[in-house]
Amino acid sequence: MTDLLNLEIEKMAGLNFSCDCGKNHKVDIENIIVEKEALKNKSRIFDSLNKKNLFFVADNNTYKACGEELLNILKDEKYNVTEYIFQGKEPLIPNEKSIGRLLIEIPKNTSLIIAVGSGTINDICRYLSYKTNVPYIIFATAPSMDGYASTVSPLIVENFKKTFEATYPKAIIADTQILRKAPLEMIHAGFGDILGKYTSLTDWELSKYINKEYYCEKTVKLVEKARDLCVKNAQKISQRSEEVIKQLTEALIISGIAIGFVGYSRPASGAEHHIAHFWEIDAISKNKPHPLHGNAVGVGTVVVSMIYRLMKDKIPKKISPPDPEYLISLHEKVGSIYDPKELGISKELFKESIIHAREIRNRYTILQLAYEHNQLEKIAQILTEKFYA
Ligand SMILES: [Zn+2]
Ligand SMILES: [Zn+2]
Repeated sequence: MTDLLNLEIEKMAGLNFSCDCGKNHKVDIENIIVEKEALKNKSRIFDSLNKKNLFFVADNNTYKACGEELLNILKDEKYNVTEYIFQGKEPLIPNEKSIGRLLIEIPKNTSLIIAVGSGTINDICRYLSYKTNVPYIIFATAPSMDGYASTVSPLIVENFKKTFEATYPKAIIADTQILRKAPLEMIHAGFGDILGKYTSLTDWELSKYINKEYYCEKTVKLVEKARDLCVKNAQKISQRSEEVIKQLTEALIISGIAIGFVGYSRPASGAEHHIAHFWEIDAISKNKPHPLHGNAVGVGTVVVSMIYRLMKDKIPKKISPPDPEYLISLHEKVGSIYDPKELGISKELFKESIIHAREIRNRYTILQLAYEHNQLEKIAQILTEKFYA
């Protein structure tokens, strides 16, 4: 097996190897391209598009970002393209309505779906691809979340968020010139999702010691290396440096690959995600707008690091959780939010989320440990006073 940690992201496409952890790890994505002006490199793109009847999906923002340019290239190359561009000022929601819309629009003889966008477009096209058995390719427009290389789609059905089984994209194409022009809030969200790996990996290690849960050292090292590269250059993120946007995009893709490696989201999602989901579910149920996933995860990571500190006498000695001060200093370098108040979370919701977020998923995290030691209420009280004084 080649040295996984030093493998370029493009070489990760199609990986298949048996690991020391006892599992076989593979990546069923045929092509991963993260580069400057990827869109202009036609021959490489068309290698992944050797199909004739394309169904092209974008929304009016992603159409402006690069969809229009891509559509023109495809038409010039004489592809048979049917396009559907979601209109409207409100953000697109991954629900029955948007998926139903695509089912109505997709021509019967479609051989490939071309998705242009980030979180929502990727989630709905991935699900459409899975249900229709037509492969899809994602052209990324923002480094905002780690779902590009994932195999599940979180959807909102009857006002309730639920994760559905779906499929890998056939290819991920990310043009760093386009990604760096994404709204800053979305770039911050991607960074927040990456920061989340500090606590998700610590939670996994915690469960390894306490429950003897399956653990893959190689997967952990892979995610840590990608995360640390972004963190090292954190101050360049808000300057939209091409180099760090590439590192951030790659780290987000690697996080998805890590999930695929182990077959569940353990490497990428721990208590910080459960707390972020708790806030999101609350907003959805009240029909209120909610922050971008990654921004909520970035705040959740700081909160969870504080819980680790409050529980420090109860965790195995070998574990070294991230310091809250360190995480806050990273947020400050980037200019992203780390206080739940600034995210629009009310005092009551915050307190409730600390106590109840562990009920969202059956996954062992620091929240579960605190619960078992009867410390959750006390911790919720301390942190609520700290943030909402
Ligand atoms: Zn492994
Ligand atoms: Zn996430």
